[in-house]
Amino acid sequence: MIGGQWIGGREAEGTSGETSEVIDPATGEVIEVAALAGPADVEAAVAAAAQAFPEWSSAPPVVRSDALAALAVRMAERAAEYAAVESRQAGKPIRLASEFDVPGSIDNAAFFAGAARHLQGSAAAEWDGAHTSTIRREPLGVVGSIAPWNYPLQMAMWKMLPAVAAGNTVVLKPSELTPLTSLMLAEDVAAAGIPDGVFNVVNGTGPVAGEALVSHPAVRMISFTGSTRVGHRVAEIAMAGLKRVHLELGGKAPFVVFEDADLDAAIHGAVAASLINTGQDCTAATRAYVHRSRYREFVSGVADLMASVVLGDTREESTDLGPLISRAQQTKVAGMVERAIADGAQLATGGGPGGPELDAGSYYLPTLLFDARQDSEIVQEEVFGPVLVALPFDSDDEAIALANDTRYGLAASAWTTDVVRAHRASREIQAGAVWINDHIPIVSEMPHGGYKESGFGKDMSMYSFEEYTQIKHVSIDITGLAQKPWHRTIFSDPVTGL
Ligand code: NAD
Repeated sequence: MIGGQWIGGREAEGTSGETSEVIDPATGEVIEVAALAGPADVEAAVAAAAQAFPEWSSAPPVVRSDALAALAVRMAERAAEYAAVESRQAGKPIRLASEFDVPGSIDNAAFFAGAARHLQGSAAAEWDGAHTSTIRREPLGVVGSIAPWNYPLQMAMWKMLPAVAAGNTVVLKPSELTPLTSLMLAEDVAAAGIPDGVFNVVNGTGPVAGEALVSHPAVRMISFTGSTRVGHRVAEIAMAGLKRVHLELGGKAPFVVFEDADLDAAIHGAVAASLINTGQDCTAATRAYVHRSRYREFVSGVADLMASVVLGDTREESTDLGPLISRAQQTKVAGMVERAIADGAQLATGGGPGGPELDAGSYYLPTLLFDARQDSEIVQEEVFGPVLVALPFDSDDEAIALANDTRYGLAASAWTTDVVRAHRASREIQAGAVWINDHIPIVSEMPHGGYKESGFGKDMSMYSFEEYTQIKHVSIDITGLAQKPWHRTIFSDPVTGL
């Protein structure tokens, strides 16, 4: 049993009186039991963050930069441990955790270590000839961050790094299903010399710890990653307190294959992009729109490649695909696939939990559906499982219209060898990221974030860094006059009458 919290630079025990089990979804084994945070723990964490703010926000950028660089080094030394814990708590194959989650997180720390020294405003100038104007970018104060379970470490880093680099202090609420790497991160933040209280972790449920954090009056910004449904709730509470809100929500990424595409590349791309993290990825390819002339070939190619993917023990290097996060998620995915078939979709491969050797875990087979209706649930709603749906189209106009026909707008890809089509798709598809002839890769230097109900605000990159600051205009009189020329609009000079 662990206390589950990190408050003011040390471990603490959640005081809600409740506990939660951290379960390895590949085996069903309980790997840890954690005390859950209640409102008192959120209060203590926010107080610690508020207390740390004056010193941290006024530290020279180089101090914050050096500390984040030290964090990156410290995490690199523990990379194998991070990968093993992340793999177990989230059911990720060890290859994914050690080649994607952990190195991506370390690279993010290194990026924001550099960014901390590059916060800039526009040049100082005398716009009206009488004042020198400068722009200050200042931190907001205490930032409340809420993260999901699908990429626990990466999401914790995407939220914490730009905030802390800019001089804010943070209270992070990880998902109670996957708190372990966030708590390891807190230890390493302390080991890297970042002062107590700059980064705090409260491990509690959404309705209790999450809502206490979002509604806390001393929290000036809420940075939330999770479902669109909970995003609506978080926005509502945060708006009541007029807090800045940053929302990274659900996705339903289209994958558009034009008639001139390299079909082999599109087939490989579709399988990789729909199955990454067992499909529990907000940018995963979920809707493949394929030109009718290539549709049958695409469906059979994807089905064959999906059937070759190896499900199994997440600790084995040979395993391609792990389980879903929980039995509840397995039931949800199975229900959506069953309803899609009842609604007329055809099943090309998958559509079930796999063989008896996988029964202990919440596995689900890579699944390809085709010929679903555009307005059906499986095409419109987030499944968050290893499920791809293919639909045909006849013209470029139709393909773009179908791609844009959901409430989401997080990511998309277009597959074509025609430069005009590539540019049109990247311009007209409504999404925060559009890949051409690939789907998934991300880099620390480039922003990640949504359009439409996928939310607003950017993670990673300088765009994200700037969101964790507020802009102050400083205007300095350079005339030295007691009576400034503009005072005429209020009163005239008694001597000159001007
Ligand atoms: P979720 O919305 O259920 O939970 C996300 C977090 O919010 C968790 O920490 C949860 O405890 C907390 N929460 C729940 N109810 C709350 C409330 N009332 N007030 C405050 N906090 C509350 O999402 P999930 O199931 O953990 O994660 C999957 C979702 O996250 C998917 O929809 C996925 O698309 C989305 N996601 C989006 C991105 C992105 O960058 N856009 C990245 C990863 C995941």
